[in-house]
Amino acid sequence: MNIERIETFLLKAALTGNDRFYSSQAPFGDRNSLVVKITTDDGLVGWGESGVSMPLEHVQTYIHDILAPRLLGKPALATEPLWHELYAFSRDFGRKATPVDALSGIDIALWDIRGKEAGKPVHALMGGAYRDTVRAYATGLYYREEDLTDPKGAASRVREEATAYLEAGFSAIKGKIGLLTARDDIRRMEAARDAVGDEFMLMTDANHAYNRHTARTVGNALHELGYWWFEEPLVPEDIEGCAALRSELGIAIAGGECEYTRYGMMDLLRAGAVDILQPDISACGGLSEGQKILALATAFHTPVCCHVWGSGVAASAALQLTAVIPPTPHTAAPRAAENDPIFEYDRTRNPLRDDLVVGGFQLVDETLSIPQGPGLGIEIDTDVLEQFTRKRGESKR
Ligand code: CA
Repeated sequence: MNIERIETFLLKAALTGNDRFYSSQAPFGDRNSLVVKITTDDGLVGWGESGVSMPLEHVQTYIHDILAPRLLGKPALATEPLWHELYAFSRDFGRKATPVDALSGIDIALWDIRGKEAGKPVHALMGGAYRDTVRAYATGLYYREEDLTDPKGAASRVREEATAYLEAGFSAIKGKIGLLTARDDIRRMEAARDAVGDEFMLMTDANHAYNRHTARTVGNALHELGYWWFEEPLVPEDIEGCAALRSELGIAIAGGECEYTRYGMMDLLRAGAVDILQPDISACGGLSEGQKILALATAFHTPVCCHVWGSGVAASAALQLTAVIPPTPHTAAPRAAENDPIFEYDRTRNPLRDDLVVGGFQLVDETLSIPQGPGLGIEIDTDVLEQFTRKRGESKR
């Protein structure tokens, strides 16, 4: 069974009105995903997703100009040698970012094919699941335009949103910090704590918006408010700074979404830079690399919770890997985020996450089911795919 055709779909969903938001760093006016479709000469189809952030045009170009000529005609089930070959090809010029983003979507699509060929979900081929559901946390408390002009009013808007997640059945939220002054953001996080109470799990994500000094001040305040983790306090290059923060602060440091492959993750782990490692399966090298990162994390006794941001395809791939994350450490009583994974579930408007994929996973209160069908366990709604496709790419044998 050989690779016959590689297609890519650059999807764009514009956000309007109140659906627009700011992360800790930048405004979001749309959501983008690069979806990869691989077809074999037997007619089996696999789906994947490449990259996390906008823009993704260069990743699409890389797939067709650089990777496709090295893949067409090759055995589709040989995920391991193909990964090795593609990574080795780009080693001298691209050990991170675009080449690995591109490789990730290809690898996920090939795992989807492997599962469909075997009639089993990906997690079964990876050795079997530790769980068939996972507790989700709501990623939210983003910034709106009005927060920039009225930072003092931001706290009451956070209170309202946190209460809505509580009422929707969540017991864990991750909120954004870093765009306003440290004082205003601490006030926002106080408001969230006040809204949901002491038993509720709260985390924060700074999208590397701080320098070391500000991160220390904010991290101390978050620890006092009982926040569970402080995600990406510093720029991803400042591994040493993260390691220092980790020893200075009481709060756990999370990170890894901007890092690539086992080699990048090894730098974080060796330096002692993170308490929780957060690879993104659509960027770090795909499911093949995800497995190696899991093995590496166990050697450093570090729990893994995937970073998840893309379409329903990316979420499904992350769910498949989440099924095989071992509890850290082993326990008869798994507790999400403590010794067992908790799953990132972004709550901003994104039709690519909610409408593109049919079946596979459902959220009930705060629990997500892990897809049980063959491969990724999902179907693609081709009408939705067409509707949001801005640029299509194709490479054929
Ligand atoms: Ca993040």
